[in-house]
Amino acid sequence: MSDWYCEELLSGRTEVERIFEDESVIAYWHTRPHYAHHAVVTTKAHVDSLLGVDAGTLASVFEVVRAVAALFVADYGGAHVVTNLGEYQEERHFHVHVWAE
Ligand SMILES: [Zn+2]
Repeated sequence: MSDWYCEELLSGRTEVERIFEDESVIAYWHTRPHYAHHAVVTTKAHVDSLLGVDAGTLASVFEVVRAVAALFVADYGGAHVVTNLGEYQEERHFHVHVWAE
C-alpha cells in the first residue's frame, strides 16, 4: 500500500497545479490525468479513506468538491465525483476525483 499524498504532495516533493487550498484541503489538477479534465481534492491531515474521515473534515472536503464540480459543469458540461475504497483504492490517503471526459 502506498500513500502518494503524504509522501509526494504534502511533503512538497511533487509540485502540483493547485485549484484551491486552505488550512485543511487541497484541490489540484491530477499529475497523470486519466481523463481530459481530472482534478483531485484531498485532506492535508492524513486520513486513510472516506470510511475514516471525521464529519467536520468530510464537510470541508465536500465543500471544495462541490465548488470544483460546479466549475466542471460550467466549463465541461458535467462531472464525475468518485472516491475509491478497499481493493479499488490504490493510494491509502482519502481523496476525491472530479473528472470530465
Ligand atoms: Zn497520507
